[in-house]
Amino acid sequence: PPSGIADIGVTGMAVMGSNLARNLARNGYKVAIHNRSTAKTEHVFDEHGDEGEFYPCESMDDFVQTLAKPRVAIIMVKAGAPTDAVIDELASRMDEGDIIVDCGNSNYADTRRREEAVRERGLHYVGSGVSGGEEGALKGPSIMPGGTAESYDRLGPMFEKISAHVDDVPCCTHVGPDGAGHFVKMVHNGIEYADMQLIAEAYDLMRKGLGLTAPEIGKVFEKWNTTELDSYLIEITADVLQHMDPKSDQPFVDIVLDQAAQKGTGAWTVQTAAEFGIPVTGIAEATFARSLSGSVPQREAGQASLEARASQVQVDDPDAFIESIRQALYASKMVAYSQGFELIRAASNEYDWDIDLGAMARIWRGGCIIRAVFLNRITEAYERHPELPLLLSDEYFKAEISQAVNDWRLIVSYAALSGIPIPAFASSLAYYDGVRAEKLPANLIQGQRDFFGAHTYHRTDREGTFHTLWSADR
Ligand code: NAP
Repeated sequence: PPSGIADIGVTGMAVMGSNLARNLARNGYKVAIHNRSTAKTEHVFDEHGDEGEFYPCESMDDFVQTLAKPRVAIIMVKAGAPTDAVIDELASRMDEGDIIVDCGNSNYADTRRREEAVRERGLHYVGSGVSGGEEGALKGPSIMPGGTAESYDRLGPMFEKISAHVDDVPCCTHVGPDGAGHFVKMVHNGIEYADMQLIAEAYDLMRKGLGLTAPEIGKVFEKWNTTELDSYLIEITADVLQHMDPKSDQPFVDIVLDQAAQKGTGAWTVQTAAEFGIPVTGIAEATFARSLSGSVPQREAGQASLEARASQVQVDDPDAFIESIRQALYASKMVAYSQGFELIRAASNEYDWDIDLGAMARIWRGGCIIRAVFLNRITEAYERHPELPLLLSDEYFKAEISQAVNDWRLIVSYAALSGIPIPAFASSLAYYDGVRAEKLPANLIQGQRDFFGAHTYHRTDREGTFHTLWSADR
């Protein structure tokens, strides 16, 4: 291919990379494409060459030469060591001011390390979250780029053009320096875990509490999708629940094994939150609920030995009960998002990322898995109060959650009495009661710590740090 012609390049022609390259080409950009094994590059060109201007490159040398300066090369290969290898291949061929973009699902700590190393070589490094799976990559994902403002000047217009749009606003913005983009993508995935778990708990309550069938529950979700819960995940839940398995003629979910898999971004979020000391109980419960579902020997042992001793709680009005579940889901969802945004804020403060929280909610409105009408309310809350320490304390959320709280308590107590596990609903309510409590029992914890470890404590009536001589007092 002629040198210096392509606006942008993509290396890694598996499903994500090829779809992103096609999206760029369909939007009028000249795209250099490359893959370690050339067959994939040829395949993309043969199948989709007519969708736009592609420049297939056999070697990394060709690929870099084909890019117009300052060069922009997107890496879309397996996360981890393969990404490091490709960064090295690119960096050794690039010139000052060129930009390497990692659109894979990298851990933000890796992105911070890579950014520093690449910056020392005089290049820009952008770690960018891309959400929306294969279809998003092709038709418009939510894009969360980190890196320098200078690199965003070059890259931003292209990314904004190919991203999803809601109300003509692109679902892409400059998140912040170095690892900010991948951090926000990680929290997005954590929130996705929480959303999915809350939906699953609502389904379980209707199934075990009311004895509804999967298609009947699907109809309920269809209705819920016309309320505040209007979102992609509620919409697909309605479809999944009403889908019939052609092999068995059973509802599809009834023939699916109840062991949830995970690829690790939920666990990353929980680990990171633990390091920052931010309680993301919704995401944590969702992650551990998947772990519990896959704990086969433990579940077998539990099933064989543990008794429910549950009460038969009568549901008098099924419609009212379903509405209470909806309110409990909505309230728990507000808690999970509030917690996720606190985690983003904590990292932003720690690393001086200066992340605009309202803008994060805005770029999640389209293209990604957690896209929802609800996100508009979050953007509005942070526009009203940019320094809001607790999303739930914003006037809109405060009012919404207080009108839901009675139903929420009812559902959590119903589930506890009936022996239906709803970890995310219950822990979200516990968080709500914890964060609004005037006093928490942490005073006792401080006493215990001082007793066994002389860890000291602060007093309510005097300034300073105190330690009690416990053995002398006994
Ligand atoms: P993938 O299966 O994760 O990776 C396959 C690609 O990586 C192939 O192009 C492969 O080249 C290349 N590769 C592997 N090892 C390499 C090495 N040592 N050197 C150079 N290239 C190497 O592909 P994917 O599913 O399209 O995902 C790409 C990235 O996007 C990943 O980071 C993934 O986590 C992220 N992501 C995926 C999704 C999704 O829905 N799949 C969504 C968001 C983000 P060969 O053909 O030569 O083997």
